[in-house]
Amino acid sequence: PGVFAVANHHFSVASESSWKHRTSLRVPNLVGGSFVDSQSSEFIDVINPATQEVVSQIPLTTDKEFKSAVSAAKEAYPSWRNTPITTRQRVMLKFQELIRKNMDKLALSVTTEQGKTLKDAQGDVFRGLEVVEHACGMATLQMGEYVSNVSNGIDTYSIREPLGVCAGICPFNFPAMIPLWMFPVAVTCGNTFVLKPSEKDPGAFMMLAELAMEAGLPDGVLNIVHGTHDVVNAICDDGDIRAISFVGSNPAGMHIYARASAKGKRVQSNMGAKNHGVVMPDANIDSTINALVAAGFGAAGQRCMALSTVVFVGDSKPWEEKLLERAKALKVSAGTEPDADLGPVISKQAKERVCRLVQSGVDSGAKLLLDGRDIVVPGYEKGNFVGPTILSDVTPDMECYKEEIFGPVLICMQANSLDEAINIVNKNQYGNGAAIFTTSGVAARKFQTEIEAGQVGINVPIPVPLPFFSFTGSKASFAGDLNFYGKAGVQFYTQIKTVTQQWKDLPGGSGVSLAMPTSQ
Ligand code: NAD
Repeated sequence: PGVFAVANHHFSVASESSWKHRTSLRVPNLVGGSFVDSQSSEFIDVINPATQEVVSQIPLTTDKEFKSAVSAAKEAYPSWRNTPITTRQRVMLKFQELIRKNMDKLALSVTTEQGKTLKDAQGDVFRGLEVVEHACGMATLQMGEYVSNVSNGIDTYSIREPLGVCAGICPFNFPAMIPLWMFPVAVTCGNTFVLKPSEKDPGAFMMLAELAMEAGLPDGVLNIVHGTHDVVNAICDDGDIRAISFVGSNPAGMHIYARASAKGKRVQSNMGAKNHGVVMPDANIDSTINALVAAGFGAAGQRCMALSTVVFVGDSKPWEEKLLERAKALKVSAGTEPDADLGPVISKQAKERVCRLVQSGVDSGAKLLLDGRDIVVPGYEKGNFVGPTILSDVTPDMECYKEEIFGPVLICMQANSLDEAINIVNKNQYGNGAAIFTTSGVAARKFQTEIEAGQVGINVPIPVPLPFFSFTGSKASFAGDLNFYGKAGVQFYTQIKTVTQQWKDLPGGSGVSLAMPTSQ
């Protein structure tokens, strides 16, 4: 079987596959192991954000087509859940190998549709690949517990069983990593899956799904439906879907959380962020500036763990001068250009939003140290580029501080003490990540203890945990109680069955007792 390839800015198929000979730009759904064209009359263009070329088109999947995807997942479930765990793990072992082999093609698809640089796109794929590697050890992760002889001749044990059909709804900013946070863990636990990729960049996931099938994932275990609000609502309401994993913005995430939990589903919802970096006066200057520039402007600020706000404890001016110098030197261009440091933002609307929030900062008294709004990139004049932008003297009441900007904009604030800095961070509605830069263990420990954020970095700007831990998030950044991947991820996709067994020679004729059984 072949894999998807991105060539001439649209999908074509490299070799033999269920997609073969397809010349249409239209991206099919995946139902029961077959790529099927939607009969919908409505399609959305997937646009290369650096060039505005139409890469492909996704359908607004019809309700009937959505139901057929869920039915396929439901049908595949009994035999997949009874497939030995070792076999399910081996599919993941093969899958990780295929992802490595196709890394360049996957990264090119990410760059073409999402805009990030090729090197960053490789990181997107790689951080997802690590979750697949982790799923290869599912037997150990999914182990139950056993207590022998809880009463005379009686043992109790618990088994972690899959839930059934699970679903995933993905954002645009990590088109490879985030789908890989979801379905590899879910299916290796024995569930079947329906995934809705972002309508803005479905390409990398289409390739990944084909690779997963090439690795041996049986028909119907992974299904794909494209679309936007309507198909998401159908996922929330469907009686056969047991759990939903969502990653994206707060309005969508809270809507999905409320609607799906009202139907009795499990939901894990990772949402927006405003991650702060607190810089102490004793921090190492060079490495801290590098960290701030990389985490503020990398991926054009479109990472949920981007450090979008810096709080300098003490005098901020010397730090800001150095920041400015380094930010000015960054190269903005299409992600396919080898020397690009950052690419475009995802859409014209995203650029307008970023520019509007920067202007709102200026209007409310912030100082614009660096303005990237009018940048023109030679050769890519139509791209949605925003150059590195720095706002200083920002205060907590400003809209540019309260709202997630999701662009290459670094907001600088000042505090007189670590206590004041921690207070600023804790009052922000979001709590995805926070980092401190210091050479003081005492300050670091205080920060770690008092800060309200799911992921804490100590001299680490983007502390995204590896898959043996979980990606967390607090306050408005997360809804639910079981996080993505790690132990919590396995718990999310499994339910516990507790068995109490009695095996002993039972004495006859001792009469019937209707009292509550107690341990003897
Ligand atoms: P988005 O919420 O616009 O879209 C996410 C998904 O939800 C898409 O598949 C979209 O089709 C669907 N959707 C959007 N609005 C909807 C609605 N009203 N009803 C039903 N479905 C809807 O998010 P995005 O712009 O693709 O992604 C960026 C956001 O994701 C940022 O806020 C970012 O912080 C967040 N994010 C968070 C994490 C995390 O782990 N916390 C990771 C990545 C991205």
